[in-house]
Amino acid sequence: MILGGTADASRLAAAVAAEPRIDAVLSFAGRTETPKLPSIPARIGGFGGVAGLIDYLRAERIARVVDATHPFAAQMSRNAVEACAAVGVALLALERAPWQAQSGDRWIEVDNLPAAAVALGAEPRRVFLGIGRQNLDLFAVAQQHAYLVRLVDPPRGPLPLTQVDVVVARGPFDRASDRALLASHRIDIVVAKNAGGDAAVAKIEAARDLGLPVVMVRRPQILPRPTVASVADVMDWLAHDSSPTERGV
Ligand code: NAP
Repeated sequence: MILGGTADASRLAAAVAAEPRIDAVLSFAGRTETPKLPSIPARIGGFGGVAGLIDYLRAERIARVVDATHPFAAQMSRNAVEACAAVGVALLALERAPWQAQSGDRWIEVDNLPAAAVALGAEPRRVFLGIGRQNLDLFAVAQQHAYLVRLVDPPRGPLPLTQVDVVVARGPFDRASDRALLASHRIDIVVAKNAGGDAAVAKIEAARDLGLPVVMVRRPQILPRPTVASVADVMDWLAHDSSPTERGV
């Protein structure tokens, strides 16, 4: 089973689909209304915590789990560590290295989203929130700012922000378009989660190009687990019997 909801998980599903010896299912949380469905079977919705995941692993006789969730989907990743250990199922995480600040970047690094809302400061600013829909309410404490929010689905109801524009778009994004977006909305500062990888890096590059500061949220802690950074490494693990630890991954 591939735990998904990311561009990497979709790439992995496509690679697995081309490998007839692997019988796989891709699991989505069900947050987006129209997920890009893969060419392997998909299931949608939570399992019901660790206990529900244990039941699912047993009922479906899952032999291996690849956690390709977003680095900020910490609850799902923690549940996977616990449930796989309980059932004796091998687990591998597919996770990109976090982005590193480079020359020209003006990052303000914080530990979580509430700290990001504080880091925007008291003075009104024009803020690009590239953090998804789920945690927008954390910025309701900072209504002095005008926000531009990018979402995968159009919002169903009012957002918890008083001054807000919404752009509906699905990644991967490109640097020139994100630069144009930030410039046309006269954005002063960007808020981003340190996802790593290519799919969401355009806004960081665009901020660098425009000399804009970025409030960069560090990743949450997840229990240690075998981790690789590429689809090719996951395919290699799936093709072999030994655990990634034994094989030095
Ligand atoms: P989360 O806080 O770690 O998970 C909350 C609960 O959602 C989990 O306990 C689980 O419910 C369910 N869940 C999460 N991922 C699932 C999956 N792949 N399949 C089945 N159930 C799943 O997760 P999140 O941050 O809300 O993220 C939800 C989804 O969006 C994930 O697929 C993630 O990869 C994707 N995503 C998240 C972010 C982000 O910034 N957090 C960004 C891009 C994409 P049960 O306990 O009932 O099993």
